[in-house]
Amino acid sequence: MNAHDSERMAEVLVGAGWEEASGLESADLIVFNTCSVREKAEQKLLSEVGKLKPLKEKNPKLLIAVAGCVAQQEGHKLLERVAHLDLVLGPDNVPELPALLDDVERGGIALARTEFDLEHPKFLAASGASASVTAYVTTMKGCDERCSFCIVPTTRGPERYRATEEILDEVGRLVAAGTREILLLGQTVDSFRDPALPPPASDDPDESQFPELLRRIAAANPSLRRLRYTSPHPRHLTPSLIAAHADLDVLARHVHMPVQSGSNRVLRRMIRRYTREEYLARVRLLQNARGAERITVSTDLIVGFPGETDDDFAQTLSLVEEVGFTSLYAFKYSQRPGTPSLKLGDDVTEAQKSERLSKLLALADSLGKAHLKSLVGTETTVLLEGPSKSDRRGIAGQKLFQGRTERAEIAHVLVPDHVDATGLLVPVRIVAANNHSLDADALDPRIFLEHVSAGLGRTLRRRLPMLGATEGESP
Ligand code: SF4
Repeated sequence: MNAHDSERMAEVLVGAGWEEASGLESADLIVFNTCSVREKAEQKLLSEVGKLKPLKEKNPKLLIAVAGCVAQQEGHKLLERVAHLDLVLGPDNVPELPALLDDVERGGIALARTEFDLEHPKFLAASGASASVTAYVTTMKGCDERCSFCIVPTTRGPERYRATEEILDEVGRLVAAGTREILLLGQTVDSFRDPALPPPASDDPDESQFPELLRRIAAANPSLRRLRYTSPHPRHLTPSLIAAHADLDVLARHVHMPVQSGSNRVLRRMIRRYTREEYLARVRLLQNARGAERITVSTDLIVGFPGETDDDFAQTLSLVEEVGFTSLYAFKYSQRPGTPSLKLGDDVTEAQKSERLSKLLALADSLGKAHLKSLVGTETTVLLEGPSKSDRRGIAGQKLFQGRTERAEIAHVLVPDHVDATGLLVPVRIVAANNHSLDADALDPRIFLEHVSAGLGRTLRRRLPMLGATEGESP
């Protein structure tokens, strides 16, 4: 979501006449887009903004802005904490960024703008000026869940849904411009509602109109290669969503389905609104929705939630094994301002959290490696995103391109030197498994020559590189 918001900020600024600077020294404006889901990210922001003080003293005209969830959470307080900050901007206020910068420049006074657009929600679409292999499309924003550890309902506001027509319009424009893969975005992307769509098939409150949205996108865009979404909430993993996975070939064979804990006691205290048994049952159905063509699942987990015992943690480990997650993001619990879990205290020691995190990551690592190894010799497709940084396979006349398989594993594919295969969907055979990626060979190398003669591959770009984006504690 933040990568998407950063792209939209860049587009809004370029639209107002700003140009991309080559580095911090030559910049007139530096914008930090922030995440506040963990305390660590917030501390990192303050440290990074602090480092800019000498630059601001040297160039008083330099504008420094903080956007995103820390901005929303802290508002004016951030201006008080960091004297050399010029602008604090909430996630819903991105369209106002150029005008607010003008105000700051004219008035010389720092501003904070953190209003939610509750009445008339705005969803910034990609400009479509140049296509990327993968494009993000927002379908909803905010969250009505109240997971007790989570600050997102505070920083992103209540759920608001984009109109299906608007989503179809953006996806259609992106696909026409050459985008191969669409990633639908929302805090609980699978809770989608639109009064213009037929009601869900059953009156189960967990059913939503998200499966219908997926079907409409697939039907309207036959040339779209892949459709993915993030992040879903497990309670909306309903029979109609599983049926959509069974029916729609364009849906990736991989879903990221956050579980957070394997213990019912902890899930209840997290207010996740499902049990371990319900999660397992739904995920099993999803994994088997396409029969032998198994769908893989990755997840998010928190260790050291208040009151988490050794037994609770053991249940998390056993759930990870039972599902067979192919990858996972695991984090130590940290208290966030205004969240319900604050009143539960923070009684798991830092040493216990570290130990549990290491055990979980070690298990994830061994499951991930075993999964990659099991793929050697199988066939799949890889959507190539651009040249690989690795030249591990070093074969004369060939270079490596990096992409993702239909199950989202990273794969490196040998491509003839003179071919830019960016955006090509290549049927491959997996020839080797590395620690976190695969090596693959095209089943029919003539596909690259056809790609060249059709003149494809020159117009697509990779996603906007993010300077200093923070990494999760994940393999
Ligand atoms: S569903 Fe996700 S975004 Fe919403 S409160 Fe829970 S963890 Fe946060």
